[in-house]
Amino acid sequence: MPELPEVETTRRGIAPYIEGREIREVLVRERRLRTPVPDDLADSLIGRRIGELGRRAKYLLVPVADARGRERSLIWHLGMSGSLRIARLGDLPKKHDHVDVVVDDGTILRYHDPRRFGFVDWLRGGLAEDPRLRRLGPEPLSPEFHGKRLFALSRGRRLAVKPFLMDNAVVVGVGNIYASEALFLAGIDPRRAAGRVSWERHERLALAVREVLAAAITQGGTTLRDFVSGVGEPGYFAQRLNVYGRAGQSCRRCGGELRLVTLGQRASVFCPACQR
Ligand SMILES: [Zn+2]
Repeated sequence: MPELPEVETTRRGIAPYIEGREIREVLVRERRLRTPVPDDLADSLIGRRIGELGRRAKYLLVPVADARGRERSLIWHLGMSGSLRIARLGDLPKKHDHVDVVVDDGTILRYHDPRRFGFVDWLRGGLAEDPRLRRLGPEPLSPEFHGKRLFALSRGRRLAVKPFLMDNAVVVGVGNIYASEALFLAGIDPRRAAGRVSWERHERLALAVREVLAAAITQGGTTLRDFVSGVGEPGYFAQRLNVYGRAGQSCRRCGGELRLVTLGQRASVFCPACQR
């Protein structure tokens, strides 16, 4: 599943090809995504100019202004298996290439999604009003995310710290991989009640979250060329993982065996010796 770093890398990868460009044509080959592609999408996009791409949590935001400067924005989610790539006129669509946005120099923004859990829709109101965005917590790489916030929100909570960290109202974009890795770096047992983690350890955890996400985004930068037509699949970043997906293998720090538990219906791997 595309996580926050993949979405951010997508934003950075496609932006230079489409920002400032005027939309000439929109082709919708398959309307039935997680929510149907809006009927007015193609007609409303033609003639509009694409502004600076944004991102909120795992949503990509594509502002589009008409000739009078009136701006609307698309909200694009990649779902479980979606990807946005750059293609050129003449690059034939493949199976599962559901939407093409063609801009004035012939560049195509092409949406591919075999499982169709992603969607593209109009943003409703601003960032603070859209029902999909308004209850979201801060971005993990923003100054609004810090240990003090984790500490304050967790007081009195018996919920295990790992599902607590994966709650979008606490902080956005910390999926299973990054929660597992951050807890390992911070030395915190994922089963520990969030309310029983000290202020200092929440500070360490917030830093670890930033570290793992920033590393994934940096690594993603090296795959940017893959956003241009044809070369391979965007795929997951081959980050060196310490715990995620390594149950039963040995801990890179102490050599002990990594354990698997289920927390909030999610598989969680940790080192019982290094994480307390
Ligand atoms: Zn260990």
